[in-house]
Amino acid sequence: MNYRCILLCGLCLWFSVCSGQNNTKIYDLLNELKVTTQDTSKADIFVRLANEYYPTEVDKAITKSELALMMMESRKDTRRVFNTLEILIRCHVDVKSNLDAAAKYLSKIRSLDAAQLNRLDNAKIFSLEGKVYLALNDCPKSQKAFFQELEILQSLGVNTPKVELATAYFNLGELYFFQNDFQNAITNYIKSLEIFQQTNTIEGRVKTLNALGRVYSVRRDYEKSLQYCNDALFLSESLWDKTLIGNTYITSGIALNGLERKDEAVVNLEKAIEIGNTINSQLIVARGKIALGAVYENTPKDTATIRLYREALDAVFATKDKALTRDVYEKLYLYYDKKDNADFAYLYLKNLVAARDSLNIEEQSKQIIISKIRFEAEQKEQENQRLLAKQLESQTTIQLQKLGNIVLFVLMILLSIAGHFLYKSLKQKRQNNQDLEVEVEKRTKMLLASNEELLSTNKRLEQSNNELERFAYIASHDLKSPLRNIISFLNLIQRKLRSSQDTDLQEYLRFATENAKQMHVLIQDVLEFSKVDSVPDTKKEKIDMNESIMLVVQNLQEAIKETNAEILTDTLPTIEGNSVQILQLLQNLVGNGIKYNKNHLPKVEITHNRVNGHHIFAIKDNGIGISQEYHDQIFEMFKRLHTRDEYKGTGIGLAICKKIVNNFGGRIWLDSNFGQGSIFYFTIPT
Ligand code: ADP
Repeated sequence: MNYRCILLCGLCLWFSVCSGQNNTKIYDLLNELKVTTQDTSKADIFVRLANEYYPTEVDKAITKSELALMMMESRKDTRRVFNTLEILIRCHVDVKSNLDAAAKYLSKIRSLDAAQLNRLDNAKIFSLEGKVYLALNDCPKSQKAFFQELEILQSLGVNTPKVELATAYFNLGELYFFQNDFQNAITNYIKSLEIFQQTNTIEGRVKTLNALGRVYSVRRDYEKSLQYCNDALFLSESLWDKTLIGNTYITSGIALNGLERKDEAVVNLEKAIEIGNTINSQLIVARGKIALGAVYENTPKDTATIRLYREALDAVFATKDKALTRDVYEKLYLYYDKKDNADFAYLYLKNLVAARDSLNIEEQSKQIIISKIRFEAEQKEQENQRLLAKQLESQTTIQLQKLGNIVLFVLMILLSIAGHFLYKSLKQKRQNNQDLEVEVEKRTKMLLASNEELLSTNKRLEQSNNELERFAYIASHDLKSPLRNIISFLNLIQRKLRSSQDTDLQEYLRFATENAKQMHVLIQDVLEFSKVDSVPDTKKEKIDMNESIMLVVQNLQEAIKETNAEILTDTLPTIEGNSVQILQLLQNLVGNGIKYNKNHLPKVEITHNRVNGHHIFAIKDNGIGISQEYHDQIFEMFKRLHTRDEYKGTGIGLAICKKIVNNFGGRIWLDSNFGQGSIFYFTIPT
């Protein structure tokens, strides 16, 4: 007999203990059902009936539960659906071994609205899950589920329901037993037993005592096994539960056989078979006969063995328990093999192989169910994670919104404070502005008045300037001719006095002639100066500055030769304007560079640059230089830094230059230090 048989035996015992079949109760419930009209009450009665039918009349239990489920599912009554599914799973996994149905209901119970289930309900779901996985031989999943169940139960602290806790330990014991981990199985069974003892739960105690007897029996510790079995038997007898008694007798019979107390074993096993026949439990009959056959094996009553095994086979067919069928075939095959009865040995071997195949197929179908429920579980898990993520997301959003609200609130406060101050300062500013406006208006009026004054002054000045320039022009122009006459007459007088010995008179005459000539130059220059403005703007022509320079060099040929001066020039651009004025400008600057130069090799360089829409011309000399303090003054009319004895001139040249450059819209300035040469710059817009 293998562990599975023993386990089933234990389970049967447990079913029997749990069922507490009570015909009176069933009768009362059926009567109650007749007078009940409400769906919910009806469903409740169905579930209670199912619990009464479980496990002995499991088909009825299933029918009633399914009815309740149908009614409550349509009403979406989660609580009642949960209760119904729970009993349905128990029926299918514990008794019917219909794992497909168990898996189907398990996935249903898992998909119930978690919000409407309490922690204990969740623990129950894990317990059912653990059982289904155990029945499917998926031990890791089963263990995980049982651990989760235990974790929930323990977390309930003082509210932990003891019976559920003890049952959880028992289930773990069953799992370890199935895995042949007997030590862990015993530890958990003992824990379970202790709690059942504390709570004085007789059914629980019988169940665990029987399980302990079974473990020790498998470990061949028959003394201990018998001890636990006797305790279980004693308690089960007091319960008057025949299924339980039958199963306990089987376990004790196996232990007694192990202890070679064969007579006692036979007595107990015969009692078990008798009970099995009485309550029509073919499982107990089959298991009892297998165990009894084993007792007779290798004894003088050996022939009884084969009879018992064959009878067990008949009983097993009725149970449709494939594992037990395989075990009986194995017993028969081994028996005939030992007896050298080849024909029968072959016959049962064939059946044994078929039974094993059938078990393998069953195992495969279990694997399919496992994959199915795993897939469903994964889907559920994914859905949960999605929901969790959604929840998290909404939590984050809420938190962000909260934070946003706080920030908004703080901002609003800050804004209102800022607004208050802003308002105050605006008010103040408005006042200030009004004051300012009054002030500005006052000042504007004053400014306008002074501007007007300035404008009229300017106008007057311009007028007087114009008049002055006009006068200068007219005067110089008109003065030129009489002056030329005076000079001519002076020349005549001079020629007449050449023969005279009056040297004083000659000296006076020479002096007068020279001054007249100077005056002529001065008038000439003033005229030139006044002519600059009189040139109409329209007189714009293309001027090749290179040609202008060539003309300058030609005009200054005498001075250049005399001083041995060198004139160097860049390639210059072509500009637009009045060529006469450009010539005047360049000639004045280059001429000054030669004139105000004591260097034995006077040098004047003309360079050009184009910067920001302007031509910049530079006329650099290596002459005497000009102190910084005179840099502005020298552009004024008649401003000279030297006497006429030192350097001839009228002090109008640079004033003319400035006027010309200004007329072009440019600027003129210089960079020079006394004794270090000068660079005169002027710009002309491109
Ligand atoms: P003028 O040369 O007829 O005296 P300008 O107006 O040309 O009049 O020059 C004004 C004065 O500026 C000159 O008297 C001279 O002292 C000074 N000056 C002009 N150009 C130069 C120069 N290149 N180097 C040194 N001094 C100069």
